[in-house]
Amino acid sequence: MVVIGGGQAGLAAGYHLRRAGLGFVILDAEDRAGGAWQHTWDSLHLFSPAAYSSLPGRLMPGRPGQAYPDARHVVAYLADYEQRYELSVHRPVRVRGVHRHGERLRVETGSGTWLARAVVSATGTWSRPFVPAVPGQAVFGGAQLHTVDYRRPADFAGQRVFVVGGGNSGAQIAADLARTSALTWVTPREPRFLADDIDGRALFDAASARRRALDEGRTDTGGVASLGDIVAVPAVRAARDAGLLKAQPVFTRLTPGGVAWADGTTAGADAVIWCTGFRPALSHLAPLGLRGSRGHIPTLGTRAVDEPRLHLLGYGDWTGPASATLIGVGRPARDAARDIAGLLHGVHGAHG
Ligand code: FAD
Repeated sequence: MVVIGGGQAGLAAGYHLRRAGLGFVILDAEDRAGGAWQHTWDSLHLFSPAAYSSLPGRLMPGRPGQAYPDARHVVAYLADYEQRYELSVHRPVRVRGVHRHGERLRVETGSGTWLARAVVSATGTWSRPFVPAVPGQAVFGGAQLHTVDYRRPADFAGQRVFVVGGGNSGAQIAADLARTSALTWVTPREPRFLADDIDGRALFDAASARRRALDEGRTDTGGVASLGDIVAVPAVRAARDAGLLKAQPVFTRLTPGGVAWADGTTAGADAVIWCTGFRPALSHLAPLGLRGSRGHIPTLGTRAVDEPRLHLLGYGDWTGPASATLIGVGRPARDAARDIAGLLHGVHGAHG
């Protein structure tokens, strides 16, 4: 068994594979434990309290003075988690391709080849930032970054910065910059803040209610999307309440010195930060030829419809409700491990 990716999803898979008595290795491209959390901006805090950000088996400890722990705390938690459960993570190992190889899947990496009876792909989305195509990107003379490149407000002190995007990343980075830069926050539609007393717990509850409704054949509750887009974490709330988070419509093109809207209005800009989301990192699965629509691979639960030896974990709701969250990935990881154990006909402890 091979698990590709050693972030939270890969570790949750490892936890449940171990419980199912299956032998496995986890291959992770990073130098250290922590997945994408080790690369986020300095001020990022979780949108749920620690106890609601836990992987299976081990509650995330609280962090004194932080109702919502920061990313460093998550990295430490994940490092401790893989040690505690003795998960065998090989680093840094980047998987280049997964191929059919008779009864097995052949996992090719820069440092060796593994033959596996089953593969769990848990490579996340952080390595595939998405930036929409907007005219003028090539002529713009300022800096263009994505969420993945942003670190701290000091890097933009005094600059005219456009933050693009009405989700959590856009709102949090806009709030981060609001007091040190000449900020313009642009969103495709009016930002939808969740009520102040709603945090990631409610989002998880909504995702669970949706899953139950769908399981029982009832009307789709709309899940998370029906609540709003932006969790009013303390920094976002403070900036919003100070009147610093007023959004404008997104510009339609970039110019050498700034941005322009369809009505002819222009503005100067030193930097544009695209907080415009991610795509699943699936290029290593290309040799299997499984692509469906929108870059997703068709799945039944987590299992690839056209390759039952492959499971996809943690990429978003299409691989399990709330599966791209710390607390939400446990259940699909458990289901995947059970399915794999069934596929292997109860051959426990099998390596490879
Ligand atoms: P990752 O953490 O990205 O881990 C994937 C791992 O796979 C990485 O180590 C990567 O190096 C490795 N990898 C990739 N490709 C290969 C390859 N070909 N071969 C080998 N290894 C590979 N969730 C919450 O629960 N609470 C929050 O408050 C929260 N806030 C978020 C804020 C932001 C800005 C973002 C972007 C996400 C947030 N999330 C939050 C969502 C989610 O928890 C994270 O995105 C999480 O990092 C996803 O975990 P993962 O294991 O699926 O992917």
